[in-house]
Amino acid sequence: EPIAFAQLVTDVVETFELIARQKNIQINSQLDEDSIIYGDGDRLEQVIRNLLDNAIRYTPEHKAISLTLTSKDEFSELVISDEGIGIPEEDISAVTERFYRVHKARTREKGGTGLGLAIVSQIMKKHGGTFELSSKVGQGTSARITLKNI
Ligand code: ATP
Ligand code: MG
Repeated sequence: EPIAFAQLVTDVVETFELIARQKNIQINSQLDEDSIIYGDGDRLEQVIRNLLDNAIRYTPEHKAISLTLTSKDEFSELVISDEGIGIPEEDISAVTERFYRVHKARTREKGGTGLGLAIVSQIMKKHGGTFELSSKVGQGTSARITLKNI
């Protein structure tokens, strides 16, 4: 189905507003309304939910998260960036594996099962899109997904 990507992102962000406010995390969105992509709305919603959940969960209070959606010629790009704890370089390729979590002891108290990014990766593959993570410990993480425009 054709999907108005900005609207989908806005709907997901709304469901996280309360939890972000409780952590005093500011969510800034800059969403290109022209982005229309083709895909499974429920699955893509799950992708954004998992990425935003991580951004909030692994970011300390009073920091910010940004979502930037850009429609290019052939594809749309969504980047979700946080100012959180970051992911060590040696773990970055493994975090998309099922049940893999960085510093298990440290993250255990933050809940979660270690499936979120494996699901993101799988859904993006099924959509013929891309998914990349970049991160610096102590500075933050950026998740970037791309999908072909209609
Ligand atoms: P859940 O299944 O509830 O999503 P999870 O968050 O532990 O559990 P993933 O979303 O797959 O699982 O993430 C895997 C690991 O990657 C996390 O445990 C965390 O260590 C690290 N991680 C993921 N996103 C971030 C982020 N934005 N900042 C810092 N670390 C992150
Ligand atoms: Mg997660």
